Amino acid sequence: MAIPKILIVDDRPENLLALEGLLDKFHIELIKANSGEEALAHTLDHDFALILLDVQMPGMDGYEVAELMRGNRKNKHIPIIFVTAASKASSHIFKGYESGAVDYLLKPLVPLVFQSKVGVFIELFEQKEALREKTQEFDRKLVELEELQQQLEETNEQLLMLSTTDGLTGLLNRRRFDEVFSEEWKRGIRSQSSLSLIILDIDDFKAYNDTYGHQVGDDCLREVTRTLSNIPLREMDKLARIGGEEFAIILPETDTEGAMQAAKRVRTSIDRLAIPHSSSSSHQHLTISVGVSTVIPKADLSSRKLMEAADMALYEAKHSGRNCCCSMAVTNMVVNS
Ligand SMILES: [Mg+2]
Repeated sequence: MAIPKILIVDDRPENLLALEGLLDKFHIELIKANSGEEALAHTLDHDFALILLDVQMPGMDGYEVAELMRGNRKNKHIPIIFVTAASKASSHIFKGYESGAVDYLLKPLVPLVFQSKVGVFIELFEQKEALREKTQEFDRKLVELEELQQQLEETNEQLLMLSTTDGLTGLLNRRRFDEVFSEEWKRGIRSQSSLSLIILDIDDFKAYNDTYGHQVGDDCLREVTRTLSNIPLREMDKLARIGGEEFAIILPETDTEGAMQAAKRVRTSIDRLAIPHSSSSSHQHLTISVGVSTVIPKADLSSRKLMEAADMALYEAKHSGRNCCCSMAVTNMVVNS
């Protein structure tokens, strides 16, 4: 903590010397001035814990000095003790207080009284300094805390991203797909609008991996993802990777016809890539089979039924020679089981 500074102002050197002697016991930095002008100049350079100000001085007297100090924003809270031999007359004392003195001491000074008063002001200054340092420390901690908070939010965002995104393709993962599908199912119940689901599966992908290796297999999955992502979908449509080589597209507010059109675009887009697949059981290149189902969600129907219908449609497509789209109505299935 900074050492408290005390300014003593007196036109007579012997008085300054006497004050200096009385202040000797304190751990302070003492600044001396022998005129009001000099005292004011010192207040520009220092932050004083206390000013001991002689009243009778040639030129500017103590009252004027105090008034000028009070008029300055930086100095107006510095405690001033007037030291005077002048008179005990109350009119003088009042003048001193009007000029902003916090205390009044009469010469000759009684050392014990003087020192105890000065001690109080030093203590006040030290408490004020300690408070200021604590406040600064608090502000620093607050900034640190805000930075930590920011980092935490970023980490949380990243975690959320990681927990909802498929690492290989960057698409929504199975977990997030389940959540979105469930949300859309509930929304469909409320709005009583058609919800469609497309499930697509790369044909003979195990054979592809066995033939070309997993690295090429991963590249192929990314290529398929890029192609699927480029198919124009609406904001509300959601594309996800739900298994090794299985993808799904949730199409809210879409009827069977609309879903089938989307499914055909999806199938064609992969077909056109013409990625060589020498071990395909049905074609010379990489293809997908697509299953589609549509239903108006109902409270007494499980969303699983739509998944199962789309899965069955996919199964149907596989058995119809692959590289094709099939649809299956949920109504053909057992409801409420
Ligand atoms: Mg004097």
